[in-house]
Amino acid sequence: MVFENLSDKLQNTLGKLKGKGKVSEKDVDEAMREVKLALLEADVNFKVVKNFVKTVKERSIGSEVMESLTPGQQVIKIVNEELTNLMGTSEVKLNFAKQGPTVILMCGLQGAGKTTTVGKLAKKLKKEGKRPLIVACDVYRPAAIKQLEVVSQQVEVPFFQMGDKISPVDISKAALEHAKKNGNNVVIIDTAGRLHIDEGLMEELKEIKASTNPDDTLLVLDAMTGQDAVNVAQHFDQDLSITGVILTKLDGDARGGAALSIRAVTDKPIKFITMGEKMDQLEVFHPDRMASRILG
Ligand code: GDP
Repeated sequence: MVFENLSDKLQNTLGKLKGKGKVSEKDVDEAMREVKLALLEADVNFKVVKNFVKTVKERSIGSEVMESLTPGQQVIKIVNEELTNLMGTSEVKLNFAKQGPTVILMCGLQGAGKTTTVGKLAKKLKKEGKRPLIVACDVYRPAAIKQLEVVSQQVEVPFFQMGDKISPVDISKAALEHAKKNGNNVVIIDTAGRLHIDEGLMEELKEIKASTNPDDTLLVLDAMTGQDAVNVAQHFDQDLSITGVILTKLDGDARGGAALSIRAVTDKPIKFITMGEKMDQLEVFHPDRMASRILG
């Protein structure tokens, strides 16, 4: 499970503080040195780690003593709060359109898990009583259209495609019309993935975005790629102004650094995480629960 190592290390380090009736500046310094190493090992962005440790130190040393907590517990509470803050405090929900169908534009590099995530999200929305439509806009790989169709059938959500001869902009416009006619109130647009960030792809995404005016532009990122995921997020955000991230493969042995860095680096929330290949393995991301899970 992701964060296993980080979790062990932080629990071990902070455990030493727990019972202390008095915590000196030196104790805090020592603990923070270990926290810093543990975070760096988990592949958390260097600048993010530096800021994190600095904030925890300042708050710990200046902290008022709460009667119900020992000073050691106080430091642990501060670490928990700052870990939560790092990931964004509380869950960030999808944006739903006030009028007309809600449009969710999905983007990401090939292999990140975009196709499966589209299926998972559609399934979740359907379960919540929405009437989603899945739209295939990856016109470069016929196999991608087929794969998405199979996923749609799996989750029993209607599927819209126009083959690979029509431009993604025209497909997405036609899909919106189709949704309006057929009573689909959420349109999930799957777009082409590439192996690397590519200007042609970005231009195309910008055009689809401009013509569909999505309520959410979600970037699907593979947690296993660590710092690369953070760089990809920065790039997509600069070009496309994303509204959130879906972080995949958190069930694997990813070190979790991406989950801890993305919000701080891009200021964009992680809205969902996926924890397996099955269609129901998508969860709303709760920063506070994740922080508590890490700290045990
Ligand atoms: P795409 O190229 O971005 O559309 O990626 P796919 O949806 O085809 O996913 C690539 C691979 O990652 C597939 O084998 C998926 O089953 C797998 N995958 C996607 N999400 C997860 C996840 O949360 N956990 C695990 N273990 N595998 C995943």
